[in-house]
Amino acid sequence: MPALSIKQLRKTYGATTAVDSFDLDVAEGEFVSLLGPSGCGKTTILRMVAGLITPDSGQIVIAGKDVTHVPVHKRNVGLVFQSYALFPHMTVFDNVAFGLRRNNLAEDKVKERVITVLSKVRLEGLEDRFPKQLSGGQQQRVALARAIAPEPTILLLDEPLSNLDKQLRMNMQIELKRLQRDVGVTTIFVTHDQSEAMAMSDRICVLESGKTQQIGVPEDLYHRPENKFIATFLGRSNSFTASIGKSVSGKLVQLDLDEGIQILATASDKVASSGKVHVTIRHETVKISKNPPDKSKALNRFKGKVIYRAFSGSIIDYVVTLDDGPEFLLEATNVDGERHALPGAEVWISFEAGAVLVNELGDQ
Ligand code: ATP
Repeated sequence: MPALSIKQLRKTYGATTAVDSFDLDVAEGEFVSLLGPSGCGKTTILRMVAGLITPDSGQIVIAGKDVTHVPVHKRNVGLVFQSYALFPHMTVFDNVAFGLRRNNLAEDKVKERVITVLSKVRLEGLEDRFPKQLSGGQQQRVALARAIAPEPTILLLDEPLSNLDKQLRMNMQIELKRLQRDVGVTTIFVTHDQSEAMAMSDRICVLESGKTQQIGVPEDLYHRPENKFIATFLGRSNSFTASIGKSVSGKLVQLDLDEGIQILATASDKVASSGKVHVTIRHETVKISKNPPDKSKALNRFKGKVIYRAFSGSIIDYVVTLDDGPEFLLEATNVDGERHALPGAEVWISFEAGAVLVNELGDQ
């Protein structure tokens, strides 16, 4: 039995369809992210699961019980918001104790549980502080502690890390993931940050305009995008439109890019059909070299000139204009710290047939 089962959920606001025909099953202990651009419906779904918004239609089942019309305080869900929403007039202890006392837990048990949970989020010793006496990261940990203290069936996190600076955010990602594993609580995480979703989730559900575009483990979404939206939304990539050319072998097919070059892609069902297709080639799959790469290693290789180079420590971004073709953006790993391929340098770029992701063209 899934910990959470959402069926055909729908919510409209006047003429705006915020969520449409949304289905999702989440297994016990699973960490699932709802990811998508601003306005795609992530928060509305999370709030419907919490009981803060009533759906127009559909069903929400938590641990086998239909809670679609059950009020928020009877759903046994833990909530953490971007704004933390701590009670400002209560100490850390009282904030974390809040849900336990509301559940009428005996005060000695409340104390025991608050101390245990505060140690899990590494806030021992700060019990008597008020929220305004804490840093942003500490406030977020109190919010987490408050949410997990009553042992919720589901933990709902709405962009909980987005108010933190970059370094703290990365540290909190690791902490949050460890805590979630340790506690074993089923978690739904709303974010518009794809790298955060990929780093933390067992599965990701990508949404656009209130509809699911693809659900899967991060690697599947990244390497096997089901459509053009997923292919271009995740990662950094070069996008082209192409016509399917001749089949070079049973395994390879030629694609004629509108920009005038031919590339080889791995044959698949998606490229079996004729006509126009959308082509995605991720930055990190394009290699740059001074000399022509060995054809046996890279089926696609082109000569060009570096027109832009940006060094950012571990990676170097390049823009290369091909001699007779389009610009390619690529990302190289800084392996030796040398200043290779400065702007103006004549270079080769190459990529494997397997790096070419092909999808239906869809809407222009
Ligand atoms: P963000 O990442 O910006 O928070 P989101 O993916 O969480 O966006 P939602 O907040 O769920 O998106 O909103 C989905 C759609 O519903 C948007 O078009 C939004 O403008 C609309 N919407 C949300 N709440 C209301 C409301 N109370 N009244 C009218 N429209 C609303």
